[in-house]
Amino acid sequence: MHVDTSFPRSPSAASGTAQATPVESLRVCVVGTGYVGLVSGACLATFGHTVCCVDTDAARLAQLAAGQAPFHEPGLQALLAQGLERLRFSPHAAEAAADAEVVIVAVGTPLAHDGVGTDLSQLLAAVQAVAPALPASAVLVLKSTSPVGTGDAVATLLRELRPEADIAVACNPEFLREGHAISDFCHPDRIVFGTDSAHAEAVLRRLHAAQLQAGVPVVATTRRTAELVKYAANAFLATKLAFINEIADLCECLDTQVEDVALGIGLDPRIGAQYLRPGPGYGGSCLPKDLVALAGTARAHGMPLAIVEAVAQLNEDRKVRMQRKITEACGGDVRSRAIALLGAAFKPDTDDVRASPALSLAAALLAAGATVRLSDPKALERARTVLPGAAFFADPVECAAGCDAVVIATEWPVYAQLDLHRLRAGMRGAVLIDLRNLHAPAAARAAGFTYVGLGRGKGGLGETATLTRTP
Ligand code: NAD
Repeated sequence: MHVDTSFPRSPSAASGTAQATPVESLRVCVVGTGYVGLVSGACLATFGHTVCCVDTDAARLAQLAAGQAPFHEPGLQALLAQGLERLRFSPHAAEAAADAEVVIVAVGTPLAHDGVGTDLSQLLAAVQAVAPALPASAVLVLKSTSPVGTGDAVATLLRELRPEADIAVACNPEFLREGHAISDFCHPDRIVFGTDSAHAEAVLRRLHAAQLQAGVPVVATTRRTAELVKYAANAFLATKLAFINEIADLCECLDTQVEDVALGIGLDPRIGAQYLRPGPGYGGSCLPKDLVALAGTARAHGMPLAIVEAVAQLNEDRKVRMQRKITEACGGDVRSRAIALLGAAFKPDTDDVRASPALSLAAALLAAGATVRLSDPKALERARTVLPGAAFFADPVECAAGCDAVVIATEWPVYAQLDLHRLRAGMRGAVLIDLRNLHAPAAARAAGFTYVGLGRGKGGLGETATLTRTP
């Protein structure tokens, strides 16, 4: 492995798309137009590459052909509406691959039905669809998060399907976050290339020339190691979240403030301040399934990962704990209580509700006999399809009208800016359960609420520490 940090990092590498640095253009086929594939394809087109994005979902392709983003991701609609000259969409994988120098596979890799393995059916179908047409000099890049050894299996499959060609298979894991996907893709903290082919690495460096010129470090390693880097990164992030949730629970017993603890430890660069906010557990399409898959891989190799397994279990337990917290705040029983749940997306700035802790809470409250009213700025349509039995409201104040309790489940900025007096005025009860610690407990009490947060001491003080720096 070598780490190449020869270019100084661009000081402007903070947000927005990268400048279209003149790059040696490549013909690229991206298979899968989800959060990763579409963002990758659109950004690579802005870098100067010629990109064809392929998908099997005809409805999605029709939206894209009309310049419509099929999901909410800040900046994506504007990017597509520009009608990027070098970006086109097609249902024909083989045709798109036949003309490509690079084929990027960015399809889903969900948990398998057994609940421990990874379902590679989308990935293998994508490889089989492009294989017959791939030029021998093309590089097949696996961007989907897939277990260690998937690249090896794909290379074997390609040798079977195309014995006359020696097609290079590389792993290039993606670290973008939904809600920041464009900025993260254009200005990543690092790029990981996993391949032992000099040709594949050279092509990947051309593909990412815009970022490399801006000083983004490249970790070049073996394909198997690159595959593990992605899982290890997600496992570490999940561990931080589980850790601060445990500390928050302890804070409630010790009458101490979790935000102050997070501040006090996060300033240590060995720890870092990010991912130290307590919440109702992690969700989304990546962390939950990636932890389970990593734990499964480790067990299959006789090397169980105690930390990873504990974190995954803690996250499951967290849902039950949060439901209990809500129930206690509602007087010990939620039957016949009307509860407004603010947030359906698994995090702010996305409409993705996959494995959303907000929705599992909503389902549990419904099952326990509560009336659930749900609001979200962007994810209502998606929530509606998976949560029959709830009522849906675009406006959070309207959602809370007549309710006994309000639960803040997703960290949308708009929920931090809520006028609590107005919110309270329309309600039947006065309980505010703030699972994201967005509000100062004193302000909530001043608005007439009984306030319940996470890890904010017995009295629910909230943030009390002051941070000063002597210049
Ligand atoms: P997604 O479910 O949003 O999108 C997958 C797309 O692939 C869908 O549009 C689907 O129709 C299409 N597809 C499925 N099979 C196909 C085939 N055979 N041919 C063509 N298209 C096909 O997935 P996503 O969230 O973009 O994730 C993709 C991969 O990237 C996953 O492995 C995920 O773990 C990983 N990842 C996701 C994120 C994230 O934030 N979403 C971040 C990093 C990595």
